[in-house]
Amino acid sequence: MKQEYIISTSELESSDVIVIGGGPAGIAASISASRCGKKVTLIEQSGQLGGMATLGNVSIFMPVGNITGIYKEILSEFIPEQLKNANENKFDPHFNPFLYRYYLNQKLEKEKVKVLYHTTFITVLKEENITKGIIVHTREGLMSMIGKIIIDCTGDAAVAINAGAEYITGRSEDDITQPMTLMFQMQNTGQKVDNILPEGCYYYNEKSDLPQGRTLYWENISEGTLLVNMTRVKGNGSKINELNNAVVESLKQVFSVANYLQRNGFENYIISHIGSQVGVRETNQIKGLYTLNQDDLFMGRRFEDVVAQTNYEIDIHSPDGEKSCDERKIDSYDIPYRCMIPKGEGLENILVAGRAISATHVAMSSLRVQPTCYALGQAAGIAATIAIDHNKGVSEIAIDKLHTMMYKYGVKFN
Ligand SMILES: Cc1cc2nc3c(=O)[nH]c(=O)nc-3n(C[C@H](O)[C@H](O)[C@H](O)COP(=O)(O)OP(=O)(O)OC[C@H]3O[C@@H](n4cnc5c(N)ncnc54)[C@H](O)[C@@H]3O)c2cc1C
Repeated sequence: MKQEYIISTSELESSDVIVIGGGPAGIAASISASRCGKKVTLIEQSGQLGGMATLGNVSIFMPVGNITGIYKEILSEFIPEQLKNANENKFDPHFNPFLYRYYLNQKLEKEKVKVLYHTTFITVLKEENITKGIIVHTREGLMSMIGKIIIDCTGDAAVAINAGAEYITGRSEDDITQPMTLMFQMQNTGQKVDNILPEGCYYYNEKSDLPQGRTLYWENISEGTLLVNMTRVKGNGSKINELNNAVVESLKQVFSVANYLQRNGFENYIISHIGSQVGVRETNQIKGLYTLNQDDLFMGRRFEDVVAQTNYEIDIHSPDGEKSCDERKIDSYDIPYRCMIPKGEGLENILVAGRAISATHVAMSSLRVQPTCYALGQAAGIAATIAIDHNKGVSEIAIDKLHTMMYKYGVKFN
């Protein structure tokens, strides 16, 4: 039987800049463009800002050696005590994800960013091969929105790929990505608790039985919390079947790991929070005007169009799902603006910020952490502003202008 579908959309108010994805990159991109005087709408498919930090309970920032710009400002407002006397090379604050979620709602309101929660990007709208806007799914059905520049902060490059950008996935030899992890929190109750192991879960006898073959947690003694990063499921979080498998398997591992911890030093702890989504480390990287690679990291390469700097290590959780991690220390390196510009026709008004920028599997394992995604987002918001103000494509903007505005808005480079 032939079925015809008529898709009608009503229009949402247009914006200068549409940012898709409310994680670290999207938050910084939105604030940044809004401060530059642009009308900004931030589209977020969940009901929370923060991305992995709140949705995945990744409530810890890794050290990057350069605490700057909007990231620094957020720290100074949200956890000022921890920021005091911070050593830039070691600063890895562990924070309360619920308070962070609340803080971000208020922050974006103050910054005059219109946030559309529970709104999912579906497809771009093109006119003569130029992206003019997007279609989103909302609680009122499908709706369209027009924008001058679109910043893809979905983590998966979902918008850029939909618009025609080329991309790669995972390791060059077999496209396999880093595994997924469902993070959770435990709370010290001050007394011994019942040790529960739901039916079907695993009984881990030894440390070597654990999914990562190790313990990995952060303890906040004063608040009695334990943030646990110990589950591991092989797969690519942008593939429906692999994600589905990880959703079910990772939750089984959460209860199993908690049970192990309760038998091994955390007898007084109960599970107090489980991320609402399994954490996805790696999916797609756009092919950009420049692709950051392993040599750039090891050589500490500098670029004239630098937009972010980090010295966070190479950190590859075994893509094969084995109990190993490839961790290699590096010195500081630059990330160039060109990594955020997707290659391809008709993409001149699309930027990508966050973990999906143009980088190899090894390079992305270092740049993926939250402070770097904040830095990339801030640069993207300013670049979008310059492109609009000078009626240029995102690849045509003047880098000295980009840097001047980044300095003006509090960014420093070492
Ligand atoms: C298990 C795990 C542990 C980690 N540990 C650390 C750590 O200790 N410290 C650290 O700093 N970093 C850590 N990271 C890395 C870091 O959390 C992420 O790489 C970082 O959050 C990526 O930022 P982002 O803005 O690119 O994307 P995300 O944080 O993933 O945010 C993307 C946002 O886009 C939204 N979105 C996606 N698709 C759509 C759509 N179609 N429509 C609308 N919205 C959409 C999502 O809902 C989400 O809010 C970890 C990551 C994982 C998975």
